[in-house]
Amino acid sequence: MNNQLTPTKPIDIKGFIEVSFIDWDGFISAVIFLPRCNFHCPFCQNWQLVCEPEKIKDVDWEVIASYLKKQRQWIDGVVITGGEPTIYPHLNLLLQEIRRLKKKTKLDTNGYNPAILRELVEAKLIDYIAMDIKAPFDERYELASGIKGLNLDRLRESVEFLLGNRVEHEFRTTLVPSLITDKEIEAIGQTIKGAQRWILQDYQPEAAMDEEFRKLQPYTREVVERFLVNARKYVNFVNYRGKWR
Ligand code: SF4
Repeated sequence: MNNQLTPTKPIDIKGFIEVSFIDWDGFISAVIFLPRCNFHCPFCQNWQLVCEPEKIKDVDWEVIASYLKKQRQWIDGVVITGGEPTIYPHLNLLLQEIRRLKKKTKLDTNGYNPAILRELVEAKLIDYIAMDIKAPFDERYELASGIKGLNLDRLRESVEFLLGNRVEHEFRTTLVPSLITDKEIEAIGQTIKGAQRWILQDYQPEAAMDEEFRKLQPYTREVVERFLVNARKYVNFVNYRGKWR
């Protein structure tokens, strides 16, 4: 069925979770994983999906569609995650299929494709966007994304679009110890001031793409609580997602 989503460039689906209580706060969701990414974050947890998608078996859209039809009652929505879903110009076709099944949609994104975000929201194909903010918008973002010469204006445009409240949204920052300290929390807070939600995420070193990043110790509860207090100066709703240590 992948080929039926788009006749010209198939979207490979490389993972499917039937039921999740943690991928969309307040909703019971199913989760679809799309491979590949335009970033190369050294702390990426899904690096096999990003770097070696050919080693992961495809999931047939028909199987997912048939599951969603059967579970229509209690699955509220579908989360599209990755990898980076917006690298697929035909992402709208997948979202249209999900809409046909009368499900809500959430998109996880690194925000590097503001034009696609805008188009999908304008086409009413997306109910919720979760965008990563990996670092302040300066050379620190190149380290965090693993991309030299990153065009920060594209990220700024996505932030500005979300802050315009045309769609429900959250920003997410992974608390990678070598990249995020009090200073970075302040700087990011200033960039996303007034956002609907800001989620600080636990850093899980075990699965990081870069071996050096696997050696980093995640922050303790005391430090995370200090970050939360500082973050709430800029965004009213700030939460921590992950394990307390
Ligand atoms: S943007 Fe996300 S999926 Fe892409 S490399 Fe970074 S962490 Fe991994």
